[in-house]
Amino acid sequence: TSFSSLPLSDAFLANLAQLGYHTMTPIQAASLPPVLEGRDLIAQAQTGSGKTAAFGIGLLYNVNPAWFATQALVMCPTRELADQVANELRRLARSVANIKVLVLTGGAPMRPQIASLEHGAHIVVGTPGRIRDHIGRQTLDLSGVRTLVLDEADRMTDMGFYDDIAAIVKLCPKRRQTLLFSATYPQDIRQATEAFLVDPVEVVV
Ligand code: AMP
Repeated sequence: TSFSSLPLSDAFLANLAQLGYHTMTPIQAASLPPVLEGRDLIAQAQTGSGKTAAFGIGLLYNVNPAWFATQALVMCPTRELADQVANELRRLARSVANIKVLVLTGGAPMRPQIASLEHGAHIVVGTPGRIRDHIGRQTLDLSGVRTLVLDEADRMTDMGFYDDIAAIVKLCPKRRQTLLFSATYPQDIRQATEAFLVDPVEVVV
């Protein structure tokens, strides 16, 4: 299926074509229609499936560049993945003027992250520990979040991030879209994350 079947702007579609994205991968074809309608989503998908664009196109669809608040929050298990996701989001956002994507991960110094947050970031991609750290210092405000993404939820849970994630989710507005991606979706993850989602569409590819 072609991306042009989706309600995306001509400029956005032209950028996808320029990136060499002509047909949707199976996870994109199954996820993007409900995601663009605003539904919550649980998707079981592996790395390499095109899952980043599946949620990235969804969250970019909802970001208002003229509003300098953090409108989308993406949580990832590792620094490497957060960097990778941020780079993909920046490529996808090339057709949208002035979208700021900020990476907040542990190991990096706090001060530059705080300075970047002061300047405003539409999209924050980070690891749960460092995101919670910023919330504690009141340097990150989640009250404007409209889209929340949990990427590789099974790995984040395995790494012991569950309490951080639960605390962070509590600070996001109740009225939001939540998208959960996981390579596996065993019963314990299902139970642990159920409360984060409202009537989610489930996609397995
Ligand atoms: P991911 O699973 O998100 O890590 O994506 C795997 C790779 O596929 C990345 O290098 C993407 O840039 C690329 N990709 C994602 N969607 C498409 C698509 N529809 N057509 C071609 N390449 C894609």
